[in-house]
Amino acid sequence: MAKNRLSSKSAPVPAEFPLSFFACQNPNCADFNKFNAGNLSIAERIGKNKALRRLYCETCGRRFSEREGSLMAGKKLPEEVVVRIIKCLGYGCSIEATADICEVDPRTAFGKSRQTCRRFPPPTTGETTTGD
Ligand SMILES: [Zn+2]
Repeated sequence: MAKNRLSSKSAPVPAEFPLSFFACQNPNCADFNKFNAGNLSIAERIGKNKALRRLYCETCGRRFSEREGSLMAGKKLPEEVVVRIIKCLGYGCSIEATADICEVDPRTAFGKSRQTCRRFPPPTTGETTTGD
């Protein structure tokens, strides 16, 4: 029986998303932001407990963290805190309320708010308001 090599004091490894959930983050790549394009492979494991994957784009040759371009990119916050911040903001809590509920600095909540707006802009309906 294979025994888990991680000690009991290490954090549980979150479930990994399939590669089809990721897209190349190089804006100059022909497969930029194309999901399930078959251009990505796992280059190596990185980070604490090797829990993150560095992905390789066969189209442009660039390597990038699986978190790059996501709301988890470059942040040291635990995933559950980021999820709580996004939920609070999604329910319309103010920056101050979100910071208080999530026990983070208001600047952190504000930064997540800006990052979310850039990543998920409001959908365009295609409707025009010409009034006729
Ligand atoms: Zn690429």
